[in-house]
Amino acid sequence: MQNSASLIVVLGTGGTIAGTAPSSADDSAYTAAQLSIAQLLAAVPGLTAAPVESEQVAQVDSKDMSHAIWQALALRVAYHLARAEVAGIVITHGTDTLEETAYFLQRVLAPAKPVVLTGAMRPATSAQADGPGNLRDAVMVARESSRVGRAGVVAVMDGTVHGARQVCKAHPTRLDAFGSGEAGPLGVVQGSNVSWLADPAHPVAASADAPLDAALTRSVTQWPRVEIVVSHAGASGAVVRALCADGVQGLVVAATGNGTLHHELEAALLTAQAQGVAVRRSARSGNGRVLPPAAQGLPGASDLSPVKARIELMLALMPSGAP
Ligand code: ASP
Repeated sequence: MQNSASLIVVLGTGGTIAGTAPSSADDSAYTAAQLSIAQLLAAVPGLTAAPVESEQVAQVDSKDMSHAIWQALALRVAYHLARAEVAGIVITHGTDTLEETAYFLQRVLAPAKPVVLTGAMRPATSAQADGPGNLRDAVMVARESSRVGRAGVVAVMDGTVHGARQVCKAHPTRLDAFGSGEAGPLGVVQGSNVSWLADPAHPVAASADAPLDAALTRSVTQWPRVEIVVSHAGASGAVVRALCADGVQGLVVAATGNGTLHHELEAALLTAQAQGVAVRRSARSGNGRVLPPAAQGLPGASDLSPVKARIELMLALMPSGAP
């Protein structure tokens, strides 16, 4: 459904896009999360020609993203989305965990308006900063998505639009660090034009998305504890046994091949599952889907990466309703 609202709300959470370095020649030795969202918006010429509002929700290097910030951010996104005059939301975010926040917000809010995450690979002080262009593109994608009736959470980086389910940081330094794997991107931004590559039914998130109120209302100290372990040459069950002894409630294993596991790690995971710990196998290769397991095996996580399978399992284990 097309939307006649025109206000874009930009929420700041920190990251390299808000980072500063002592020298404009320095693209790697910088401190993330230094500039306010108002300063980032002021650095984009013409951005406020159309209605834009901003709010600082957090100021963090996203490697340190927490469940508490996720909950606070989801509540602010939900608040602004409910305003009739709001066409869409843009969130500035560090690139390290941007894909996790995108998936979390999609699964928890299942928004009926566009929510666009963006960031930068170079700090704001860089002579060749990519943040202002990414922020301009993100606002444009939010506005254009609203105009044509596209909803849901996406990420916009380096002129490319990625769906929340598919988006993945795949390179530590390149400007085009993000990809959508074999699913491919949803669209591209060229100048002031957004070209959609996938139809609106492209699955930006899980199939049966519906808002999950528990993640908004339940204290984060009571969210289920779900950890990730990795299968690799020489793996053992020691990490799994230690986590179980420490009270973990769910385990995602980043598996080799089509969900294959080192036999020692697999034995420990089967024991954990028998003791009541929820276990999911996802592919550590970062692409494709893990096919269903044999009868007594460990359930697969479909096409979800290990970090997104962790979110999915955590939400699945979260009791509904307030504590
Ligand atoms: N460590 C930074 C962050 O995730 C990296 C970035 O934003 O590019 O906040």
